[in-house]
Amino acid sequence: MRSIHSLFSVAFILCTALVLNSSLSAQNKLSRISKVDRSDGKGVVIRYHFEQAIDSFEVIQPAPDLIQMVLYDNDIDTSGIVFPSEGEKVKQVFLYELDYGFGVDIYLSDNAAYIAKAYPDQDKKHLLVGLTRTTPEKINEYSQQFIARTWYDHVDFDADFDQAITIVNPAEVTDSYDPVRNKLKFDKIVIDAGHGGHDPGNLGYKRRAKEKDVVLAIAKKLGAYIEKGLPGVEVIYTRNSDTFVELEERGRIANRAEADLFVSIHADAFKSSRVRGASVFFLGLNRSDKSLEVMKEENQVYGTHGVLENLTEEDLIVYELAHSGNIAISERIAYMIEDQLKNRAKRKSRGVRQMGLVVLYQSTMPAILVETGFLTNPAEMRYLTSDRGQSYIASAIYRAIKQYKQEHDAGLSLNTSSAND
Ligand SMILES: [Zn+2]
Repeated sequence: MRSIHSLFSVAFILCTALVLNSSLSAQNKLSRISKVDRSDGKGVVIRYHFEQAIDSFEVIQPAPDLIQMVLYDNDIDTSGIVFPSEGEKVKQVFLYELDYGFGVDIYLSDNAAYIAKAYPDQDKKHLLVGLTRTTPEKINEYSQQFIARTWYDHVDFDADFDQAITIVNPAEVTDSYDPVRNKLKFDKIVIDAGHGGHDPGNLGYKRRAKEKDVVLAIAKKLGAYIEKGLPGVEVIYTRNSDTFVELEERGRIANRAEADLFVSIHADAFKSSRVRGASVFFLGLNRSDKSLEVMKEENQVYGTHGVLENLTEEDLIVYELAHSGNIAISERIAYMIEDQLKNRAKRKSRGVRQMGLVVLYQSTMPAILVETGFLTNPAEMRYLTSDRGQSYIASAIYRAIKQYKQEHDAGLSLNTSSAND
């Protein structure tokens, strides 16, 4: 957990001129600039889809409706780049080729009042610009400190003007982007059995069960169902034996695999043995206005599974930025899993909730955490430790994933947050 926070503190201190890496590597590619509304309703996220991390960047906002950026990287291929279509918040994006990279002008709508901050995404490749709603007075005052940049000091009008300035008109290219046609295949799933090794998880009713064993058995059954029922889908386990894997490493395994879904499997515990039922969590902020307070409260309740602690408002913004595109998918799958657990496996459901859990926070893909039931409830412990019960739970999760994949492959599960892209 500490590594996340130190990473982000560094990011914030250096956010106006952040050196991401000093790559000696080959040409970088910027394939797309996209925008999505933040799911907390507080603004917009602009995402630069780089193939690798750029050397560094700067962001200024010299006028309330103009964000200017410099992308430092002297070899960026922008051929075929896709721009976001004109929207009610972000009007247009222009790129200017410079000797040392690209200048960018992002025009917001006239009545917009957003403050822009830029951050590297968690995978460090993409660059995110978060626009957070503010008041017209505040953005007016904020923008006073910056002087607008002129990208070309001495434009030689005798030279070929069109070549000197690479301005790509968004209107010309937006038609070529079809979020359905261009969507990624849904063919790699990471299954994360919670705990393991020296971390047994909870010990169940009268210490008669170990969460780590129950969840590993369910994880393996789930993996086997997927491999059998969904040929072509690759299953990656964060652990497939009784070993301990750090929370951060679980997320890294998923990111390295560039998986399409991360499913974490746990079993619950409570001091009262009467409490029972399955819960499904998907990553993201609570949607209420008091999201931070709610998360902190819930984090205390769910402290055993490595929730985020000491979150600052900025942590939450970065988190939200990094995941804004995945939250809608995660939510959809979470409800499908809940439906299967409740209506097919006949488990008591405690509902679907949105939450920032470290194990989910670390992954940059849709992510779900299933609390399969309470091992501290005698009946649920019997069920969850039985081969039959484990099979039912695993097949419920499997059917939900299959249902989502079918939807996805049919192009029906258009992620609502990218639909306005
Ligand atoms: Zn657990």
